[in-house]
Amino acid sequence: MTETPKRRIATDLIHAGRIRSDMAENAEALFLTSGFVYDSAEQAEAVFNNEIPHYQYSRFANPTVAMLEGKLAKIEGAEACRCTATGMAAVHAAMLSHLKTGDRVVAARALFGSCHWIVNNLLPQYGIERVFVDGSDLAAWQAALSQKTALVLLETPSNPMLDIVDLRAVCDLAHAAGAIVVVDNVFATPLLQRPMEFGADVVVYSATKHMDGQGRVLGGAVLGSQKWITEVFQPFFRNTGPAMSPFNAWVILKGLETMGLRVAAQSANAEKVANFLASSPKIARALYPARQDHPQHKLAMAQMTAGGTLVAFEVKGGKEAAFRLMNAFQIITISNNLGDTKSLATHPATTTHMRIGAEERAKLGITDGIIRLSVGLEDAQDLIEDLAQALEKV
Ligand SMILES: *Cc1c(COP(=O)(O)O)cnc(C)c1O
Repeated sequence: MTETPKRRIATDLIHAGRIRSDMAENAEALFLTSGFVYDSAEQAEAVFNNEIPHYQYSRFANPTVAMLEGKLAKIEGAEACRCTATGMAAVHAAMLSHLKTGDRVVAARALFGSCHWIVNNLLPQYGIERVFVDGSDLAAWQAALSQKTALVLLETPSNPMLDIVDLRAVCDLAHAAGAIVVVDNVFATPLLQRPMEFGADVVVYSATKHMDGQGRVLGGAVLGSQKWITEVFQPFFRNTGPAMSPFNAWVILKGLETMGLRVAAQSANAEKVANFLASSPKIARALYPARQDHPQHKLAMAQMTAGGTLVAFEVKGGKEAAFRLMNAFQIITISNNLGDTKSLATHPATTTHMRIGAEERAKLGITDGIIRLSVGLEDAQDLIEDLAQALEKV
């Protein structure tokens, strides 16, 4: 890969990271191979001795996956990237490669369900202390980070309530406590928010969401400094095996070519849908970071360039009303994925956030009337009309 002078993101989404083979192909090649061959036994020995660069085995590295890693690093402005089989493999490997028994982790309470499980259930199994804080409460972060800490994990905007964490303030507090900051940037995407510019050390993604964006494959990504990726992450990654399939990398490479257009259009659609929902008497509240009535609107807009593709709203009448609404949709479908070209609705209390329990849901404000809507690429007016006809049945 020859790196050219700085280009704009729309161009990097198309061209960055390309590795062209001797066949002079235009589209990125799919190297669907588990292993690689050597010219001689001597060459194999030299490769395993790190004397010459050469692909060895796709659990360690693969050219198609490397193209995706190069593109994502360029877009994020990160020194290095490794792609993983799923977003959860990315979060898990980023944390477990860095942590050891006796360490302390501080996390925002509002996390994707499985991220919450890793912090709350898995870390204690390894003797790692964990402290949860209300991500929007800077005093709580300050208190939690007044002692030595190894790692901070947060998500902003959070799933599903779209809470915003002050990235710069929390990164400063975390660094003073000796911690690295891992930001799950799935909701914002690298197009709308760049956590490393606010001090984040590691950024993780579920590539399943906006990067594929068309509901086809699972994937994840971990981005950080070359030093951290090489010394901390890579040995764990290489030996525990959360590698991404080259096929999935190839699909996601195609997804990235249109991600800029999709995220901009879906975000514009989401704002229109949020404005409609906020005006409905059957809706108790509509949460969208770009709306002035979002409790952290100013902070959100200081960190993000648009409101994103997700809207959370509370239907009056609790679970019964929420279910009735969802069952009446004719365009919007019920699914727990997000960032897709198709608009997808989820009832967090009974699906993605069922396992965290009623008490934790109450702390997060996830009432039984809350619906998370991932807004797709359909015509915004059709989505509004679908919501309007469904609301009439509530
Ligand atoms: C989906 C998601 C994940 C997990 O990603 P998978 O690809 O499903 O493993 C992690 N964090 C957030 C915020 C997500 O939305």
